[in-house]
Amino acid sequence: MSSQKRRQQITRELTELQGGKCYYCQDEMHFDKDSCPDRATFDHIILASENGPVSRQNGVAACRTCNSLRGDIHWVKWMSFIRNNMFNDCVRNVKKHRRDSLSTVEQLDEELEATRARLEELQKQRRETIQPVKKAVRKYTQRFLKAVA
Ligand SMILES: [Zn+2]
Repeated sequence: MSSQKRRQQITRELTELQGGKCYYCQDEMHFDKDSCPDRATFDHIILASENGPVSRQNGVAACRTCNSLRGDIHWVKWMSFIRNNMFNDCVRNVKKHRRDSLSTVEQLDEELEATRARLEELQKQRRETIQPVKKAVRKYTQRFLKAVA
């Protein structure tokens, strides 16, 4: 199983254990679109930057918004933040902003995808154009070296 698939599977299991709710803000999560504010994600307890593994023991399922709010904040510090009354207001505001910009983001993602596909096509064309030139250079170099030997 690829690490991405494993991460998804663990996220699903954790989400189920948490009754479909974000561990931090308690909002309902889903698995629809990657960029959605309520998308379920895997959040490390011991951070990845501190070599925390992707595992059921070292993670909770968190919505994309809470996950990105936490960033690289240490677990103990983060838990004291989420117990603060202002936390839910903060999450709500961030989610609203995210939702408002979502359609633009999705549109840009589509353009990005199309541009990537075009880039791949151009790279392929480039390779195909260069290949016969490289071949010819090799051939004529060998001929030349033979002639002057
Ligand atoms: Zn959340």
